[in-house]
Amino acid sequence: MSFTKSRFLAVGQQCLKMASRAASGGKLAGKVAVVTASTDGIGLAIARRLGQDGAKVIISSRQEKNVQRAVQELQGENLDVTGMVCHVGKAEDRKNLIQHAVDNYGGLDILVSNAAANPGFGQPMIDTTDSAWDKVFDINVKAAFLLAKDAVPHMEKRGGGVIIFVGSIAGYGNGKLFGTYSVSKTALLGLTKAMANQCGRLNIRVNGIAPGLIKTEFSKKMWKNEALLKELQRKFQLPLKRLGEPEECAGPVAFLCSDDAAYITGETIVMSGGAVSRL
Ligand code: NAP
Repeated sequence: MSFTKSRFLAVGQQCLKMASRAASGGKLAGKVAVVTASTDGIGLAIARRLGQDGAKVIISSRQEKNVQRAVQELQGENLDVTGMVCHVGKAEDRKNLIQHAVDNYGGLDILVSNAAANPGFGQPMIDTTDSAWDKVFDINVKAAFLLAKDAVPHMEKRGGGVIIFVGSIAGYGNGKLFGTYSVSKTALLGLTKAMANQCGRLNIRVNGIAPGLIKTEFSKKMWKNEALLKELQRKFQLPLKRLGEPEECAGPVAFLCSDDAAYITGETIVMSGGAVSRL
């Protein structure tokens, strides 16, 4: 079968799946979901998928123009989506984001903490400055924890909920390229376990995802640089022999948010095309 024909069939199948998900009301029908850093890339794909599965979704990011564009795009697909500005490093923005869910939808069931910073990409770990260290840990770990902490009482009122931390394959090994960022993502593996332990009695499940190299703006420096890409492919020896797409992170998140994952907590699902993921 030609590539064009198989691609055409794949797109057709995808549309049929979307239509049948929407027609059945979706496995997240009635749920209210907040997704941070969701106006582009993996966060946007997650927001879209949660919406397709029936959730009411609140998207957010730092820039108003990005929020407006993404809200328009998703509303144009008939998804129940609103949005607001939230820089996850700002306490007031985090509080407003959670409050938006409570004021407009009566509560909160799902939080996907997706924002990250990586100011020292490619820099040796040992050269990390004081301020770069703080920025990475403030955004990637501290803000993730504080946002989850703000969300928990509201989920408790609903009798339970789901928190997802977006980690990274980098969290399983501090390769030269990822330095402090990889250490922060390892910390998220620990945060996922610790929060799952704390929140289980409240029927709040806490899980993570750890994407490999996914084709987004964030990772452009890697996949636009052919020599670097070859080096990464050689190093990771990807069994699937290709980069991932944002949508391939969204399906596992939708699964973790659904009752199909009702007995899963404290786990991180790796979607890395087979790249090794052991600590
Ligand atoms: P992306 O395509 O560059 O999108 C980043 C999004 O985050 C944008 O919507 C951006 O919008 C928003 N954002 C950035 N900083 C923010 C902040 N401080 N507060 C709120 N929003 C913020 O990035 P991505 O590749 O999808 O990455 C998303 C997550 O996946 C990150 O946690 C990253 O570590 C993880 N990840 C990515 C890869 C990969 O290969 N792409 C691999 C492993 C893990 P504004 O500019 O409007 O804020």
